[in-house]
Amino acid sequence: MITICANALIGPNLEFVQGVYIQVDEQGIIVEITQEQKPTTYHLPPSYILIPGFVNAHTHVADAFLKDQVYGLSLDEAVGPEGLKHVKLNSSTIEEQRESIQNSLEMLVKNGYTTFFDFREQGVEGVVLLKNMLTNFPLRGLVFGRSITKGDLEDVLNESNGLGFVDIFAVDKEIMKTTKSLKEKNLGKIVGIHVSESEELISNSLSKYGKRDIELVCDYSVFDYVVHATYANEDELSLLKEKNMSVICCPISSLYYGLKFPPIESILRRKIILGLGTDNILSSNPDPFRLMAFTLINARSDNQKISPKEVLKSITVNPGLIAKKKIGQIKEGFSADFIGINLENHNLKFSKDIYTAVTMRAEPSDIGFQMYKGRLVEWKDQKS
Ligand SMILES: [Zn+2]
Repeated sequence: MITICANALIGPNLEFVQGVYIQVDEQGIIVEITQEQKPTTYHLPPSYILIPGFVNAHTHVADAFLKDQVYGLSLDEAVGPEGLKHVKLNSSTIEEQRESIQNSLEMLVKNGYTTFFDFREQGVEGVVLLKNMLTNFPLRGLVFGRSITKGDLEDVLNESNGLGFVDIFAVDKEIMKTTKSLKEKNLGKIVGIHVSESEELISNSLSKYGKRDIELVCDYSVFDYVVHATYANEDELSLLKEKNMSVICCPISSLYYGLKFPPIESILRRKIILGLGTDNILSSNPDPFRLMAFTLINARSDNQKISPKEVLKSITVNPGLIAKKKIGQIKEGFSADFIGINLENHNLKFSKDIYTAVTMRAEPSDIGFQMYKGRLVEWKDQKS
């Protein structure tokens, strides 16, 4: 059993509480949170704020080796089915893929992520490669695999945390029927899909199926969450809410490809669970601080009102809810995944609001304490 004493953001509402004692058992689970004094293993200075470890709700970690080869290209030219990413990924060596994933996982840990959701390409092999590499990192990867042949859906699902479909054109009635029955047999597996990422994709969906992609996705009743929903209209957001589906937006990625800022205020107003992700490593580093600040600043420019606290929740509490796992909160029964940020660092000093300081000013270098499943990853100020 270990105990951490700190000022912390507690529970699903990230409520600021001073001087809490957090007890963690041998399995890395938080067993008690109290303000009653306890013998302490890690006593964080009063200038620190302890928050849940970040959860990146959408990545593609294998494409790091293609960094900065697609800026200026359209979405389709960069990451479309015939685009640069897939051509180069499919002709890459296993060593290139391994080095790519290694680089991405190192960045995720360094930047304060303790969990990420990855849409893993390359079928069963792709899933297994990432899962094996993860065993060397203080990082939880929820891997959403993708089938590459007609018959490998079950194998992909068995090895992964669920499935991540490319888009509406990658599914049909038969695939959806199989996915539904596999999900019923494998409770706890989660299924996601990219939707409404560009107007072009929506018009292709309309000309092929006579319906926009979100409506089609909702009709299937198989998916737990959708990624992007950048061009979702009000009716589509209502439909997603009605179907109890969550939405993961990737604002940096959308704007990188010259697309629109996602309708985050409308998503939150409908009480749809919102996660935020950094998407392809080839276009953007997995940096939670850049993602949060970028989202808040661009929301203003798009006339959307969202709060720093909601944005912080969307990379901590909310993805935990989407994954249906006890992660992303400092709460009894949850995994002891934390980061501690020193609010006295020059970036953050004088700030009158913790949520704004963490989302709009902090940087990875402000992380002074990091813990994954109750095990210390880093403590810069540790005195021994
Ligand atoms: Zn994606």
